[in-house]
Amino acid sequence: MSTKGKWEKRWHPLREEWIVYSAHRNNRPWQGAAKSTPASAPDFDSACYLCPGNKRVHGSVNPNYNDVFIFENDHPVVGMQAPEVTPAGSLYKREQATGVAKVVCYDPRHNISLSQMKLPEVVKVFVAFQQEMIAFRKNPAIHSVLIFENKGEVVGVSNPHPHCQIYAVDFPLKLVSQQVRVADIYKLTTGKNIFESIVAHEQQDKIRIIAENDFAIAFIPYFARYAYEIMIFPKAHHQSLISLSDEELAGFTAVFHQTVRKLDMNFEMDFPYVMSMMQAPVDGSSYPEFRIHCWLQPPYRQPGLIKYLAGPEIGAGNFMADTMPEEKAAELQKINVADYRWER
Ligand SMILES: [Zn+2]
Repeated sequence: MSTKGKWEKRWHPLREEWIVYSAHRNNRPWQGAAKSTPASAPDFDSACYLCPGNKRVHGSVNPNYNDVFIFENDHPVVGMQAPEVTPAGSLYKREQATGVAKVVCYDPRHNISLSQMKLPEVVKVFVAFQQEMIAFRKNPAIHSVLIFENKGEVVGVSNPHPHCQIYAVDFPLKLVSQQVRVADIYKLTTGKNIFESIVAHEQQDKIRIIAENDFAIAFIPYFARYAYEIMIFPKAHHQSLISLSDEELAGFTAVFHQTVRKLDMNFEMDFPYVMSMMQAPVDGSSYPEFRIHCWLQPPYRQPGLIKYLAGPEIGAGNFMADTMPEEKAAELQKINVADYRWER
């Protein structure tokens, strides 16, 4: 059997690293033995600190909210009240852990996910993200904002209540900084925008596109590290959510919604992922070459089979992938989201 197209290395232009694909070793097809429908937890859990009306750890009581509910994390990773630290050192540096950490509850229902929610409800969530960004831009203490969702026990989430987190920090986020830098270098050397070139490549190849409308596009990139890794870009040029029009934001949300539904439908399970909204800093500088994108990095290669990070990934920082992006994209392309059955 030929290993052509299943055994090669590809350059990740945004991370500046090689990924080795060896899908020729992984010929066992998924048998579907462990299929399960999305979880059937109760609508309300009196022990959940995110459900409406419940008391949180320091005594605050959640309002009886109807859609999106945002509050400052009771156990913040970064905070304006972090202890003062005398900055010291050049090699062993330290500073105060300043910032704002928030929790965004998507829905009062304890047992739902973004994929199961109706599209207009998910649009409300994305509008809330945009409003948070607008507020953080006005806060001189904040340099960069990461909006992220860890979905599923397999990525370490103990509370299934649908929510994500916002970390607004006073320092540059590492991967955003790297993308800003590679985009600037790409512009200098080619005269082009690196993100637009990636989207153009994907539109030309077509085989890795997962969902698309007039305003946004989702694809498994040519250089994906995880089996079902997906990038979602607005088609117009935006550095963050702040500048998207209502229509563009709704279109971007719709492509996200179709994408996460396809992931759920592919294995008939609530498909875990790490979602991060990659946005330019809000420190007042301009980042003309940066393009906002939503980045989904699901840990599963298939149900029950996680991509563990080990020697090459942890030791060297280079991924060894067991699947080809084209094969995984073909699986998702076959799915018709109109057949989605778990909307509530
Ligand atoms: Zn809950």
